[in-house]
Amino acid sequence: MLRRELDLDLREFARDYLDTEAVGAACRSCPRYGATWACRPFDFDVSDLLGRYSRLRLFACTFEPGGADVSFESLRPVRDALNAEILALEQSEGGFATYFGGSCTLCRECTRPLGLPCRHPEKMRPSLEALGFDLCRALEDKFHIRLDWSPSPREITLVAALLHN
Ligand code: SF4
Repeated sequence: MLRRELDLDLREFARDYLDTEAVGAACRSCPRYGATWACRPFDFDVSDLLGRYSRLRLFACTFEPGGADVSFESLRPVRDALNAEILALEQSEGGFATYFGGSCTLCRECTRPLGLPCRHPEKMRPSLEALGFDLCRALEDKFHIRLDWSPSPREITLVAALLHN
């Protein structure tokens, strides 16, 4: 796996890549919209969250999927391992971790449709794209990575960040 990392000014990154309206529209068309606490609409204010931090450590992890199946489920082991790493980084260095794409998969059934609180707020984190960032543009500009949306991509890149001060 190829890992890339950049430490960036969060205000500048938000100015250049936060596109709440476009991402919000995409989220509303997703079946997971409102289905987990890591998905929109959030029970917290994104501006308040971003306002607490001045820097963003951006991580891009690229790997070959090694098979025809590139479904969310097939990528889950890699994603779960990367999420555990960034959560450990949050715990050791402080800040706020965002997860590597997709939705929350910590529980077999999320409590949100039942109107109950999250079972694991200490582990549940939203992804950077769910917060409203246009990661396609950010990846091209910062790492010269163009995402391949074909059904059988040769490489997959997952992105996450640690917000910090
Ligand atoms: S940790 Fe469980 S309850 Fe919380 S958002 Fe994730 S799936 Fe839902």
